[in-house]
Amino acid sequence: MTFEPVIGIEVHAQLRTRSKMFCGCATAFGLPPNAQTCPVCLGLPGALPVVNARAVEMAVRTGLALNCTVRATNQFARKNYFYPDLPKGYQISQYDLPICEHGWIALTLNGTTKTVGIRRAHLEEDAGKNLHADQRTGSFVDLNRAGTPLLEIVTEPDVHSAEEAVTYLKSLRDVLMYLDVCDGNMEQGSLRCEPNLSLRPVGSDALGTKVELKNINSFKFVKDAVEYEIARQTKVLTEGGTIHQETRLWDVNRGQTVVMRSKEDAHDYRYFPDPDLLPVSLDDAWVDGLRSTIQELPKDRYQRFTSDYGLPDYDAGVLTSARALADYFEACVALFAEPKIISNFVMSEVLRELNQSGSPVESSPVSPERLVELLRLVHDGTISLNVAKELFPELYAGDQSATQLVEAKGLRQLSDETELQALVDDVIEKHPAQVEQYQGGKEGVLGFFVGQVMKASKGKANPQKVNVLLKTRLSQ
Ligand code: ADP
Ligand code: MG
Ligand code: ZN
Repeated sequence: MTFEPVIGIEVHAQLRTRSKMFCGCATAFGLPPNAQTCPVCLGLPGALPVVNARAVEMAVRTGLALNCTVRATNQFARKNYFYPDLPKGYQISQYDLPICEHGWIALTLNGTTKTVGIRRAHLEEDAGKNLHADQRTGSFVDLNRAGTPLLEIVTEPDVHSAEEAVTYLKSLRDVLMYLDVCDGNMEQGSLRCEPNLSLRPVGSDALGTKVELKNINSFKFVKDAVEYEIARQTKVLTEGGTIHQETRLWDVNRGQTVVMRSKEDAHDYRYFPDPDLLPVSLDDAWVDGLRSTIQELPKDRYQRFTSDYGLPDYDAGVLTSARALADYFEACVALFAEPKIISNFVMSEVLRELNQSGSPVESSPVSPERLVELLRLVHDGTISLNVAKELFPELYAGDQSATQLVEAKGLRQLSDETELQALVDDVIEKHPAQVEQYQGGKEGVLGFFVGQVMKASKGKANPQKVNVLLKTRLSQ
C-alpha cells in the first residue's frame, strides 16, 4: 500500500509590540531574569489583565493579509494546565471564538500555484522559561517572556510534503515580516512551528492518527523532521503497526524524532471564557481602516515585478524576498528605467557588499541615486560594465560619486573612433599571420584581435566599437 502524507501546521509568531499582551511590562529580550514582570504576568491573585490594543491590531492585519474573516466579536479563554513557567495555572488564549478564521495563502511551488487553507489565527500569551542549572543549585523560572503576545496561525491539513511545508513557512514568514508584525527569527524563537503529520492510503479522504512535531527552529530542520517522520510512520504502518497520537521532538543530534508525551485532547484543558476579560468587539470601520493600511504583499509584488518590469522569476524572487530590498530596487527603477540592468547589478555587486559589511539594504551607503549614476555611465558607454564592477567597492566604501571616481582614476572608456581606429590599424599591422588565418575563414581569431586592442588601450577601449572596427578593417 502506498501512503500520502497529510500535514497541518501550527505557527506561533511573537508579535512586535513594545509591551506584553495583558500588562504594561516590556517585551525586550535579554534582561536579567524576572526584571520585566508585574503582578499580572507573575500571576498574582487579584491582578487583572488588560488587552493590548496593538496586538489586536497586528492580529487583524495579519488575518486580512491571509484572507481571513475577522470576527467582530472574539473572546479570550483560559487553557488550563500546570507547568512551572505558567504561574497562573492557565494560559490566556482564544478557543471557540478566535479573532481570525477561514483564510488561505497561495504558494508557488515548482512553477505551479497551490493554496493552503488557514483554519484560524488567534491571540494568546507566551509562557515563561525554565532554566535548569546543575542538580545542586536546582532549577529556576524566568518570567520575562511570560505574557508576550503570540499569534497562533493554524492551517488546514492541506500540506502534503516536506517541500510544501517549508514553502508554506517561508511564505508565511514573508507576509509577517512585510507586515512588520513579527521579526521572523526562528533561531531565537520569535517564529515557532509545529507540523502535525499523519499518513493515509493514497486515494482515501479520511484522516489518520497524527503526531505533532516540536522543537524545530530552522527551515532545514522542518524539512529534515518532516521527511524523517514520513519515513517513520510509513515503516510502522507498512509493518502492520499503529501510530499513537503523541508529541514528538526533533532531536538534531540524532537526526530523528523522539516521543515527548502522549498528546492531550482539547477537553483535557478545560477551556472556558476568561471571566476577567470582556469579549473583544471590533468595529467594522476600524477593521476597514486597517485593511487599507496593508501594503502590497510579497507574492503580489513578485507577480508585478515579473509583469511590469519583465524580470525573470529568479530576479523577482530575490528582489522581493525582503521589502526593503524591493523598495531599493524600485527606487532605482524610478530614476532609471532599465530594470534588468539594475536587477543584475543589485543581485550581484550590491548584495555582495551589503552581506560583507553586514548592513541592511535600508542603510546602504550607496543610495539609489548613487547607484543609478554609476549604471548610467555604463549605459551611455562612458565606462564598461567590468569597470563599474571594479569601482563598486570604492563607491560603497567612500563618499565620492561614480563620476568623480571615473575622472579621478582616468577610467573613462575610449570611444573616440579616430583613436580606436589607430589602435586597430596598429594591431592588424603587427599580426599578419593572424590576419591570414582570419581571412582564410578562422573567425575565432577575432577574439585575439579584440584582446590585443584592449591590452593596447589598457582595458579602456569600448569593446563593442572595437569589434565593429576590426570586422570592417579585416574584411577590406
Ligand atoms: P490539536 O487540538 O491537537 O492542536 P487541531 O485539530 O487543532 O489539533 O489541529 C492542529 C493542526 O493539525 C491543524 O493544522 C490541523 O490542520 C492539523 N491536523 C488535524 N488533524 C490532522 C491529521 N489527522 N493529520 C495531519 N494534520 C492534522
Ligand atoms: Mg496543537
Ligand atoms: Zn507584567
